[in-house]
Amino acid sequence: MERRRFLKGLGAVALGSTVVSRATKAYSAEKRFVWRMVTSWPPNFPILQTGAERLARRVGELSGGRLTIQVYAGKELVPPLGVFDAVSQGTVECGHSASYYWAGKSPAFQWFTSIPFGLNAQGMNTWLYQGNGLKLWQELYAQFNIVPRPAGNTGVQMGGWFNREINSLEDFKGLKMRMPGLGGKVLKKVGGTVVLLPAGEIYTSLERGVIDATEWVGPAHDLRMGFQKVAKYYYGPGWHEPGSVLEFIVNKKAHDALPDDLKAVLDVACAELNVQMLTEFEHENAKGLQTLMKEHKVKIKHFPPEVLKGLRKVAKETIEEEASKDKMAQKIHRDFSAFQEKMRPWANISEREYYNFII
Ligand code: CA
Repeated sequence: MERRRFLKGLGAVALGSTVVSRATKAYSAEKRFVWRMVTSWPPNFPILQTGAERLARRVGELSGGRLTIQVYAGKELVPPLGVFDAVSQGTVECGHSASYYWAGKSPAFQWFTSIPFGLNAQGMNTWLYQGNGLKLWQELYAQFNIVPRPAGNTGVQMGGWFNREINSLEDFKGLKMRMPGLGGKVLKKVGGTVVLLPAGEIYTSLERGVIDATEWVGPAHDLRMGFQKVAKYYYGPGWHEPGSVLEFIVNKKAHDALPDDLKAVLDVACAELNVQMLTEFEHENAKGLQTLMKEHKVKIKHFPPEVLKGLRKVAKETIEEEASKDKMAQKIHRDFSAFQEKMRPWANISEREYYNFII
């Protein structure tokens, strides 16, 4: 009897401590977070801004309202290209953008969006999730107090709109083209003139002959820009951006302050957006291309293989030069190149063989 009472007492103590620890957990679990997300996209910009808003909505749903993210389009809170600094400095908790916009900080940033003749969307995802991609990305961004996650992909972009036919590498000589980033550097090396224009000025520049060509995104977005009215040829593929990754970036201090389950919510929502956005791009581009071909009678052109071969050779030199500019870029470049090489024989017998047959 004494013993039973004693054991009961122990039980009560043990139970009591469980109750206390559960209560502590419940308390932290109930803590609510309200975050702000800034993006590099215009308000309502299809797929990209709507994707960022989707991410915020899903985080709210998955967390049962414990993590709320208010989304601000480019210029609403910070300039479109001020996203990285705002997140790094903790002005806001998070952002949605693309890493290659920050290439001015270090050339290393470019590998986490896309590089000319680099990996396509499937390859980028494989490098990021299965290879060292995300680890290297985290290592680079840790220097800026930022935690990055892949959150979307454009798929293969288009090569651009041209008012001149491209039959050989020679045809790039003297070509004035709107082409930012590494693609622009390659264009310069083959004799083209790179013209950098804000989105709002591309159409009129093409119309007035200030430029002979422009790249943008893919059929879905290009159609809305109306380039079909002011350019003769639409060239593919976008060798300069074969699978551009979009990023979700979080201030490290804000990320550290989250309980583990909310960190997991962010990871899951980003992975979901990664699939959602790529498939939305694929679907909208397929529809957009049909419209361009059938309604607008656009001349769809393929870059000749010799042109792509020539561009690829120049791109390789350009990328080597970029990589040699700093240690981290070199480290990322080595890993990326080795990974691309490792995947090549498998891609050759699987995706490539199948595509060649089915299309
Ligand atoms: Ca582009």
